Amino acid sequence: MSPSIDLPENALVAMTRDSLLALRGAMFRDMGPGAAALLQEAGYAGGQAWFDAFSRWLAMQGMRAPESLPTSEFGARASAFFRSAGWGSIQLGALDSVATVDSTDWAESDPAVPLDFPGCYYTSGVLSDFLGRLAGEPLAVMEVECRSMGGSRCRFLVGSGETMQRVYDEMGRGVAYEDAVRSAEGAGSTA
Ligand SMILES: [Zn+2]
Repeated sequence: MSPSIDLPENALVAMTRDSLLALRGAMFRDMGPGAAALLQEAGYAGGQAWFDAFSRWLAMQGMRAPESLPTSEFGARASAFFRSAGWGSIQLGALDSVATVDSTDWAESDPAVPLDFPGCYYTSGVLSDFLGRLAGEPLAVMEVECRSMGGSRCRFLVGSGETMQRVYDEMGRGVAYEDAVRSAEGAGSTA
Protein backbone atom coordinates (compact mmCIF):
# COMPACT_ATOMS: atom_id res chain seq x y z
CA MET A 1 0.00 0.00 0.00
CA SER A 2 1.23 3.50 -0.81
CA PRO A 3 2.21 5.71 2.15
CA SER A 4 0.00 8.72 2.72
CA ILE A 5 1.32 12.14 1.75
CA ASP A 6 2.15 14.59 4.54
CA LEU A 7 0.46 17.76 3.28
CA PRO A 8 2.14 20.50 5.40
CA GLU A 9 5.52 18.82 5.01
CA ASN A 10 5.14 19.06 1.22
CA ALA A 11 3.66 22.56 0.96
CA LEU A 12 0.35 21.07 -0.14
CA VAL A 13 -3.15 21.94 1.00
CA ALA A 14 -6.21 19.74 0.85
CA MET A 15 -9.05 21.30 -1.09
CA THR A 16 -12.38 19.72 -1.81
CA ARG A 17 -13.14 18.68 -5.34
CA ASP A 18 -16.38 20.65 -5.13
CA SER A 19 -14.42 23.84 -4.48
CA LEU A 20 -12.06 23.18 -7.34
CA LEU A 21 -14.91 22.62 -9.77
CA ALA A 22 -16.84 25.63 -8.43
CA LEU A 23 -13.76 27.81 -8.86
CA ARG A 24 -13.28 26.69 -12.43
CA GLY A 25 -16.98 27.14 -13.21
CA ALA A 26 -17.03 30.65 -11.73
CA MET A 27 -13.88 31.66 -13.59
CA PHE A 28 -15.25 30.57 -16.96
CA ARG A 29 -18.63 32.13 -16.18
CA ASP A 30 -17.19 35.54 -15.32
CA MET A 31 -14.03 35.69 -17.41
CA GLY A 32 -14.82 33.61 -20.45
CA PRO A 33 -12.16 31.57 -22.30
CA GLY A 34 -9.35 33.65 -20.73
CA ALA A 35 -9.81 31.60 -17.54
CA ALA A 36 -8.04 28.70 -19.22
CA ALA A 37 -4.63 30.38 -19.30
CA LEU A 38 -4.97 31.52 -15.68
CA LEU A 39 -5.76 28.03 -14.44
CA GLN A 40 -2.85 26.69 -16.46
CA GLU A 41 -0.53 29.30 -14.97
CA ALA A 42 -1.64 28.37 -11.45
CA GLY A 43 -1.01 24.69 -12.13
CA TYR A 44 2.39 25.37 -13.64
CA ALA A 45 3.42 27.43 -10.58
CA GLY A 46 2.80 24.36 -8.41
CA GLY A 47 4.77 21.89 -10.51
CA GLN A 48 7.98 22.20 -8.52
CA ALA A 49 6.23 21.43 -5.21
CA TRP A 50 4.45 18.47 -6.77
CA PHE A 51 7.71 17.13 -8.13
CA ASP A 52 9.46 17.56 -4.78
CA ALA A 53 6.56 15.89 -2.96
CA PHE A 54 6.71 12.98 -5.41
CA SER A 55 10.47 12.66 -4.92
CA ARG A 56 10.05 12.56 -1.11
CA TRP A 57 7.20 10.09 -1.38
CA LEU A 58 9.39 7.77 -3.48
CA ALA A 59 12.31 8.15 -1.04
CA MET A 60 10.02 7.21 1.87
CA GLN A 61 9.50 3.88 0.12
CA GLY A 62 13.19 3.42 -0.53
CA MET A 63 12.79 4.15 -4.21
CA ARG A 64 15.01 6.10 -6.54
CA ALA A 65 14.49 9.68 -7.68
CA PRO A 66 11.76 10.14 -10.35
CA GLU A 67 14.27 10.83 -13.13
CA SER A 68 16.12 7.56 -12.36
CA LEU A 69 13.05 5.34 -12.61
CA PRO A 70 12.41 3.35 -15.81
CA THR A 71 9.44 4.81 -17.73
CA SER A 72 7.09 1.93 -16.92
CA GLU A 73 7.82 2.15 -13.21
CA PHE A 74 7.64 5.93 -13.25
CA GLY A 75 4.13 5.75 -14.70
CA ALA A 76 2.87 3.28 -12.11
CA ARG A 77 4.40 5.23 -9.22
CA ALA A 78 3.20 8.60 -10.46
CA SER A 79 -0.28 7.12 -10.84
CA ALA A 80 -0.26 5.83 -7.24
CA PHE A 81 1.08 9.16 -6.03
CA PHE A 82 -1.53 11.33 -7.73
CA ARG A 83 -4.24 8.91 -6.71
CA SER A 84 -3.14 9.19 -3.06
CA ALA A 85 -3.23 12.97 -3.40
CA GLY A 86 -6.86 12.76 -4.54
CA TRP A 87 -6.29 13.70 -8.17
CA GLY A 88 -6.80 10.34 -9.81
CA SER A 89 -4.86 7.64 -11.59
CA ILE A 90 -2.88 8.13 -14.77
CA GLN A 91 -1.59 5.95 -17.53
CA LEU A 92 1.39 6.97 -19.65
CA GLY A 93 1.61 6.10 -23.32
CA ALA A 94 2.67 7.43 -26.68
CA LEU A 95 1.03 8.51 -29.90
CA ASP A 96 3.69 8.56 -32.59
CA SER A 97 6.38 10.93 -31.25
CA VAL A 98 4.13 12.56 -28.67
CA ALA A 99 3.70 11.25 -25.12
CA THR A 100 0.20 10.76 -23.71
CA VAL A 101 -1.17 10.89 -20.19
CA ASP A 102 -4.63 9.31 -19.85
CA SER A 103 -6.96 9.24 -16.88
CA THR A 104 -10.43 7.79 -16.47
CA ASP A 105 -11.01 9.26 -13.02
CA TRP A 106 -9.30 12.66 -12.96
CA ALA A 107 -10.60 15.01 -10.26
CA GLU A 108 -10.53 18.18 -12.35
CA SER A 109 -12.92 16.67 -14.89
CA ASP A 110 -16.63 16.80 -14.25
CA PRO A 111 -19.01 14.80 -16.46
CA ALA A 112 -21.94 16.35 -14.57
CA VAL A 113 -21.33 19.79 -16.08
CA PRO A 114 -20.64 19.15 -19.76
CA LEU A 115 -18.24 21.43 -21.63
CA ASP A 116 -17.66 21.94 -25.35
CA PHE A 117 -13.91 21.81 -24.79
CA PRO A 118 -11.45 19.89 -22.59
CA GLY A 119 -11.55 21.48 -19.15
CA CYS A 120 -8.56 20.26 -17.10
CA TYR A 121 -6.43 23.39 -17.52
CA TYR A 122 -4.99 23.44 -14.02
CA THR A 123 -3.79 19.87 -14.59
CA SER A 124 -2.26 20.76 -17.96
CA GLY A 125 -0.15 23.36 -16.16
CA VAL A 126 0.91 20.95 -13.42
CA LEU A 127 1.87 18.24 -15.90
CA SER A 128 3.79 20.66 -18.07
CA ASP A 129 6.10 21.66 -15.22
CA PHE A 130 6.14 18.25 -13.50
CA LEU A 131 7.02 16.26 -16.65
CA GLY A 132 9.38 18.99 -17.85
CA ARG A 133 11.40 18.54 -14.66
CA LEU A 134 11.49 14.83 -15.28
CA ALA A 135 12.61 15.26 -18.89
CA GLY A 136 15.04 18.06 -18.06
CA GLU A 137 13.60 20.23 -20.83
CA PRO A 138 10.53 22.44 -21.24
CA LEU A 139 7.43 20.52 -22.31
CA ALA A 140 4.03 21.68 -23.48
CA VAL A 141 0.86 19.84 -22.51
CA MET A 142 -2.50 19.99 -24.27
CA GLU A 143 -5.64 18.13 -23.27
CA VAL A 144 -7.44 16.67 -26.29
CA GLU A 145 -10.05 14.40 -24.70
CA CYS A 146 -11.88 15.15 -21.47
CA ARG A 147 -14.48 13.52 -19.29
CA SER A 148 -15.96 17.01 -18.98
CA MET A 149 -16.81 16.71 -22.70
CA GLY A 150 -18.61 13.43 -22.13
CA GLY A 151 -15.62 11.26 -23.01
CA SER A 152 -14.59 8.16 -21.09
CA ARG A 153 -11.20 9.61 -20.24
CA CYS A 154 -9.07 12.71 -20.14
CA ARG A 155 -6.11 12.57 -22.51
CA PHE A 156 -3.20 14.97 -22.40
CA LEU A 157 -0.62 15.19 -25.19
CA VAL A 158 2.92 16.00 -24.08
CA GLY A 159 5.66 17.23 -26.39
CA SER A 160 8.02 20.06 -27.19
CA GLY A 161 6.48 23.51 -27.48
CA GLU A 162 7.19 23.50 -31.20
CA THR A 163 5.50 20.16 -31.82
CA MET A 164 2.49 20.98 -29.70
CA GLN A 165 2.08 24.33 -31.46
CA ARG A 166 1.94 22.50 -34.80
CA VAL A 167 -0.63 20.06 -33.39
CA TYR A 168 -2.67 22.96 -31.99
CA ASP A 169 -2.60 24.83 -35.31
CA GLU A 170 -3.69 21.74 -37.24
CA MET A 171 -6.51 21.09 -34.78
CA GLY A 172 -7.56 24.72 -35.23
CA ARG A 173 -8.05 23.86 -38.91
CA GLY A 174 -10.41 21.08 -37.90
CA VAL A 175 -7.93 18.17 -38.13
CA ALA A 176 -8.45 15.36 -35.59
CA TYR A 177 -5.69 15.31 -32.98
CA GLU A 178 -4.41 11.87 -34.04
CA ASP A 179 -3.87 13.15 -37.60
CA ALA A 180 -2.47 16.43 -36.32
CA VAL A 181 0.15 14.54 -34.29
CA ARG A 182 1.07 12.46 -37.31
CA SER A 183 1.52 15.47 -39.56
CA ALA A 184 3.40 17.40 -36.84
CA GLU A 185 5.85 14.52 -36.68
CA GLY A 186 6.29 14.60 -40.46
CA ALA A 187 6.91 18.34 -40.36
CA GLY A 188 9.45 17.87 -37.57
CA SER A 189 11.46 15.20 -39.36
CA THR A 190 11.78 17.22 -42.55
CA ALA A 191 12.79 20.40 -40.71
ZN1 LIG B 1 -10.13 16.50 -18.46
